[in-house]
Amino acid sequence: MDTKEEILSELARLYPNAKPALHFNSPYELLVAVVLSAQCTDERVNKVTEVLFKEHNTPEKMLALSQEALEKYIFSCGFYHNKAKHILTASKDILERFGGEVPKTREELETLAGVGRKTANVVYAVAFGGNAIAVDTHVFRVANRLGLAIGKTPFEVEKGLMAAIPEEQWGTAHHWLIWHGRRVCHSQRPDCPACTLQTVCPHYQRTKGEHSPERSQDA
Ligand code: SF4
Repeated sequence: MDTKEEILSELARLYPNAKPALHFNSPYELLVAVVLSAQCTDERVNKVTEVLFKEHNTPEKMLALSQEALEKYIFSCGFYHNKAKHILTASKDILERFGGEVPKTREELETLAGVGRKTANVVYAVAFGGNAIAVDTHVFRVANRLGLAIGKTPFEVEKGLMAAIPEEQWGTAHHWLIWHGRRVCHSQRPDCPACTLQTVCPHYQRTKGEHSPERSQDA
C-alpha cells in the first residue's frame, strides 16, 4: 500500500458514516442549501431551510416569494441579497429550461445562476450519485496538508484528488476530507497530536506541530 492509499484507508476507517451535514429531501432542496452555505455554517443553513422549506421547497413555491420576502428568510446566512437573487433566478431557469427538475449533469447545473463548479459537483455527487469531488475550504486545506493533492486553486486540488483517488470513491472521499477538516485538521490549530494520520502527513513532518495561521480558501 502506498502512502496515499494508506491515508485513504485510514480516512475510510475514521469516517465510515461520513455524509453531508446539510439537511435536504430533494435535489432542489440540496441545491438551495448549498447556495446558502457559501460563507456560512451548515448548522445555520439547516436552521434557515427548516423554516424556508416548510412552504417553499420547489421552484414554483420558491418563485411565489418576492426577492425581498426571500431575503427575510435567509438574512442570517449572510450575502442574502445575492443568494436570494441566485435562488430565484435558478428556480426560474429550472422551471423554464429544465421542466421543473434540477438538471442531472454538471455542465447543465453550472448554467444555473449562482451555481459554480463546487456547487455543481456537490449536487451531482450527493443528489444524483455522480462521481465528482467538490473542493470546499476543508477539502482544499486537508488535501494539501496530507499531500493527497497539491494545488493553489480549488480546481488544481480537484484534479489532483481525481488522479489520487479511485473514481468510485470520489463522492465519499469528499466527505472524509470535510469531516477530518472539521474534527481534527482545523484551519488555524490542527490537532496533530490526536491525529492518526500524523506519521503519513507531510505537513506534520515539515512543521512537527508548529502551525502558523494559514490562509484558508473557499471554493
Ligand atoms: S497530522 Fe496535523 S496537519 Fe496532518 S492531517 Fe493530521 S491534523 Fe492535519
